Amino acid sequence: MSQSHYKPLDAQLIPRFAGIRTFMRAPHVTDLAGVDVAVYGIPFDTATSYRTGPRFGPEAIRSASALLRPYNPALDVDVVDTLSIVDYGDVPVSPGDTERTYGQIEEALAPLVEAGVFPAALGGDHAITLAELRALARKHGPLALVQLDSHGDVWEAYFGQRYFHGTTFKRAFEEVLIDPTASVQAGMRGSLYGPDDLQLARDIGFTVLTTDELRALGAERYGELVRETVGDRPVFMSFDVDFLDPAFAPGTGTPEAGGFSTAEALAFVRNLRGVNLVGCDVVEVSPPYDNAGAVTALAGATVMYELLSLVALART
Ligand code: MN
Ligand code: MN
Repeated sequence: MSQSHYKPLDAQLIPRFAGIRTFMRAPHVTDLAGVDVAVYGIPFDTATSYRTGPRFGPEAIRSASALLRPYNPALDVDVVDTLSIVDYGDVPVSPGDTERTYGQIEEALAPLVEAGVFPAALGGDHAITLAELRALARKHGPLALVQLDSHGDVWEAYFGQRYFHGTTFKRAFEEVLIDPTASVQAGMRGSLYGPDDLQLARDIGFTVLTTDELRALGAERYGELVRETVGDRPVFMSFDVDFLDPAFAPGTGTPEAGGFSTAEALAFVRNLRGVNLVGCDVVEVSPPYDNAGAVTALAGATVMYELLSLVALART
């Protein structure tokens, strides 16, 4: 690589508890030359239906990510040797104004998408994904969505609002940002408002796996099913941390009992190898409800690391 290959601080030289917090202790850089992956924060959480807090998600995930090391043994890839990774900082947001924030996210993302830099977002509530999809679909056309979440987020509206963290993928479908027939939502569970709730996503055309169905399928066959469904289309992977059981991820706004362990979630993500990832996010990490060990933030940071490992693997 002729230009700079950006790398995290060396933990053998500067201990991991030292230094200013960026994702994985990568340098904070906004010049996109020589950058493969830009991790960035979207500290927006006023499109939540229950408890707020993911505005502090990027900060907490960055702190927890100081523990991540360069080499991923599960996928046999050195993430930071393979990829030039920077922390792009946080994009501007407008608390309380979802649609204005969407415009800000789209505007901030445009140069990354233009430059062919892989954008990896730290949320923020799940409403933010719509703006990420808008920015990416402008370049790639309709994307295949791979979503791990305990909710489908395909409501028509909530409290009369069409732009909300529970309506994201309905809007994405309407705006033709995603191709539902090439998309897989998995992890849906919990009490619903009625028997038709899960059918909403299936009617749109999504492949939908409940938590029970996903558990029965297992990680390897989940990976196969996703690869078959998305084909060679550009894929956006969205990981809502409430996919995890509240025992493993208490720090989230809309927890659902009966979910997956962190280990299971990492296995699902790893088995996505081979898909054509063009963007991803980890959303709904809500530090005010996390425990003192920041387990939810660490889970979020580690899922992001696994996603970046997939990007690295695709380039080796
Ligand atoms: Mn969600
Ligand atoms: Mn959710």
